[in-house]
Amino acid sequence: MSELRDGIMGLCVGDALGVPVEFMAREDLAEYPVTGMRAYGTHQQPAGTWSDDTSLTLCLLDSLSHGLDLRDTMERFADWFVHGAYTPHGDAFDIGTGTRMAIDRFLKGADPLECGGRGEHNNGNGSLMRILPLVFYLRATHGEGLAGRIHQDYRIMEVIHDVCRLTHGHRRSQIACGIYVLIAEQLIGAQDRETAVRKGLQKAAQWYEEHPGYAEELTVYSRLLDPDFANLSEEQISSGGYVVHTLEAALWCFLGTDRYRTCVLKAVNLGDDTDTVAAVAGGLAGLFYGSEAIAPEWLETIVRREFVEDLCGNAQRVFQRRRQNG
Ligand SMILES: [Mg+2]
Repeated sequence: MSELRDGIMGLCVGDALGVPVEFMAREDLAEYPVTGMRAYGTHQQPAGTWSDDTSLTLCLLDSLSHGLDLRDTMERFADWFVHGAYTPHGDAFDIGTGTRMAIDRFLKGADPLECGGRGEHNNGNGSLMRILPLVFYLRATHGEGLAGRIHQDYRIMEVIHDVCRLTHGHRRSQIACGIYVLIAEQLIGAQDRETAVRKGLQKAAQWYEEHPGYAEELTVYSRLLDPDFANLSEEQISSGGYVVHTLEAALWCFLGTDRYRTCVLKAVNLGDDTDTVAAVAGGLAGLFYGSEAIAPEWLETIVRREFVEDLCGNAQRVFQRRRQNG
């Protein structure tokens, strides 16, 4: 059950590769492409510094290892933002608007499920970038083969949507998280990248098509659901902070490459929201290729690597025990 570490380290390394060049334009990166861990740049952080994407992922992972408790998860998000918990250097230097507003609402006493903005403009990639730990939690509590079970067990989708809602309450973001979790689960132990992604997409699309309120929103994902999606040209792929674009860009990089390294570097070099696109892509690539496929010099550069690995190891033990106990 090393898949937990594979996914989380894959995400963390992707994030750290993207941090120094966040917001850089694609044309500028084309002249001086990222090929490994850089230092400083956009956020003036040393090499191997990971950002909110990893911090919030670790908050969720750590929270889930104590069971599903949305208030506890929000408290950890707040602890990250206010006190710099789950950070490489003790401060949260990068935060998205939607997440910031949600934490503010929580600190003012709002119910966790009412914290995430519900408007159409509240569809940044802030919930998608931290949703990966749910794959491991859901497998531990509901068994393997989640995608095959979502029609009998509504709770699986409900849990994904609720955890999304903590910071992002619009259905478009919830669908992105649902699609991502179902694809990620298909990738565990998979032999073929494309088949696994297609299966995850099909299962998600089928569920959403059958559920009013979600079905209408699914149209924004029509390009992703098209069988020719992977053949789109780079010019047709946007890599900004809009959740639909981030999911598209990450999957496009994952499908268009055949190694961890090339996948995350392609994601970073798309420019703009480099760390998040690479984190979202890196989570999938880590799961599929395994963390042994990540360059040792990249892993060694990760700041507080032991802290991250310990959180993974602890969560893994808890989930494994839960599975054994049924
Ligand atoms: Mg970030």
